[in-house]
Amino acid sequence: MADEKFDAIVVGAGPAGTSAALTMAKAGLSVVLLERGEYPGAKNVQGAVMYTKMLDELVPAFWKDPQAALERPITEQKIWVLSKDSMFQVGFKSERWLAEPHNCYTVIRAAFDRWYAKKAEEAGAQLFTGVTVREGLRKDGKVVGVKTSDGDELYADVVVAADGVNSLLGQQLGLLDEWTADEVALGVKEVLELPREKIEDRFNLEKGEGTTIEIFGENTRGLLGYSFLYTNKDTLSFGVGAKLSHFQKTGIRPPDLLEYAKSHPMIRRLLKGSKSLEYSAHLIPEGGYNSMPKLFTDGFLIAGDAAQMVNASHREGSNLAMTAGRLAGETVIEAKTKGDFSAKTLSAYQEKLRKSFVIPDLFDHKDLETMVEKHMDLVAEGPELMAQSLYDYFNVDGRPKRDTQKSILQRLLKNSAVKELVRSELTLKNEFSLVKMALKMRVLLWKLTHGK
Ligand SMILES: Cc1cc2nc3c(=O)[nH]c(=O)nc-3n(C[C@H](O)[C@H](O)[C@H](O)COP(=O)(O)OP(=O)(O)OC[C@H]3O[C@@H](n4cnc5c(N)ncnc54)[C@H](O)[C@@H]3O)c2cc1C
Repeated sequence: MADEKFDAIVVGAGPAGTSAALTMAKAGLSVVLLERGEYPGAKNVQGAVMYTKMLDELVPAFWKDPQAALERPITEQKIWVLSKDSMFQVGFKSERWLAEPHNCYTVIRAAFDRWYAKKAEEAGAQLFTGVTVREGLRKDGKVVGVKTSDGDELYADVVVAADGVNSLLGQQLGLLDEWTADEVALGVKEVLELPREKIEDRFNLEKGEGTTIEIFGENTRGLLGYSFLYTNKDTLSFGVGAKLSHFQKTGIRPPDLLEYAKSHPMIRRLLKGSKSLEYSAHLIPEGGYNSMPKLFTDGFLIAGDAAQMVNASHREGSNLAMTAGRLAGETVIEAKTKGDFSAKTLSAYQEKLRKSFVIPDLFDHKDLETMVEKHMDLVAEGPELMAQSLYDYFNVDGRPKRDTQKSILQRLLKNSAVKELVRSELTLKNEFSLVKMALKMRVLLWKLTHGK
C-alpha cells in the first residue's frame, strides 16, 4: 500500500465513507477506503435506524440481498413523553409500512457496516482495515494524500474525510476546530438480549415486524436529550443521549443516566428479563447548520458526522451521511472527467447538498435546540403538567366535565414555564406570521368551497 497514487482516498468506512467509496468505485475510479477499526463498524455506535431510500440509491433493492445485515423493518413509530409515573404518546402504525421497500430498518452497526463496506469492495474499492490516518498531506496548498499512523504515505487526486464526529483529519487540515461541549451530545447505548417471540409479544408485533420508541421527559433527569428503544431480531437497543455540556454542568455520569432511564416503570417492564450484551458510548454532532465547517478545499471534501450533518430532532444522521458521501463521490467523478480537483470544481459538492434534503433540513432546524434550551423549565415541568392534565381528563371522578376542563386549563395557564413560553414566543413577528397563515388558510378554504 505504501506510496501509491489513487483517484481518491476515503477516510472512514462508516455510512458516509462507504457511500463515497461505493459511488466512485462503481464509476470505475481507483478508490482506497481506510478504516481504523479491526473491521468496518467494529466500534461504531448508532440506535440504529437505517433509512431505505438513501441506501436504495446506493445498493438498489438491498432488502432482497439475503446477506444484508438488517434486523427488523419498522412498521410502527412512537414518541413517548414520561412523567415520574406516567406516559403519554403519539404514534403511527401502518399496513403501508409492511410492503417492500419498507420505510426503514433497525440494524446493528457492527454487522451492517461490514456488509456495506463489502458492497464497496465488490464494486472495486480497496478496503484497508486497522489503518488509522494520522494526517493529510499537502503540496502547494492542495491536499494530495494522507499519512497513516504506520508512516505509510498514500496519494490521490482527492481525499474524502468521512472520519466521524472527532474528525482529526478535518481539524489537522484546518477546516474545523474541536467541537465545544455545546456542539455535541453524548449517547450511551446498551444491546439487550430477549427471545424474538417475547419481543413480538411485548411490543404487539407480527412475526418479523419492528417498532421504534423515542422517549422524552423525566428519563433524562432534566438534561436536554432523549432515550430510544428499538426492536432488533432477538435483541433490544436501548439508549439515552444528552447534550455534553449538560452532563458536564450537572455532573451526572452517562452510565448512571442510562440506568436511571432504564428504571422508569414504563421502560422497565419492556426490558424485563433481558440480558445485557453490549454497552457503548459515542458523541453525536448536534451543532447542525450553525456549526458546519467549510465542506471543501483544493483536493479535499468532508462528509457526514465529520461535517456536523445530523438532524437530531428527527433522529437522522446515517441518511444524511450516506447522501453526503454519495454526493461527494459524484462530485469527484465529475472533477475526474474535467481533470480539475480545485476547490472551485469541488464546490459543486456544496451545491448538490443544497439541492438535496441535507442542507435544507439542517438549515430549517438550526435554531430549534437554542429555542428549546431557552425553555428548560418547561422541559422539566411540562411532562408532569401534561400527565396531571391527562389524568384529570381520563379519570372519572364524579365532577362535571366542565369543572374538570376548567381546572385543567387554569393549571396550564397558571404555570410559570407555560407563561414564559407564551410571553417570549408570541412576539409581534410570530403573531404576524400566525395572522398571515390564518388569512392564507381562509383564502384557501374560500377557493375550495367556491370551486376556484
Ligand atoms: C447513540 C446514537 C444513536 C444514533 N441513532 C441513530 C439512528 O437511529 N439513526 C440515524 O440515522 N442516526 C443515528 N445516529 C447518528 C449516526 O450514527 C451518525 O450520524 C452516522 O454514523 C454518521 O456516519 P459517518 O460515516 O459520518 O460517521 P461514523 O459512522 O462515525 O463513521 C466514521 C468511521 O471513520 C472511522 N475513522 C475515524 N477516524 C479515523 C481515522 N483517523 N482513520 C481511519 N478511520 C477512521 C471510524 O472508525 C468509523 O468507522 C446515532 C448516533 C448515536 C451516537
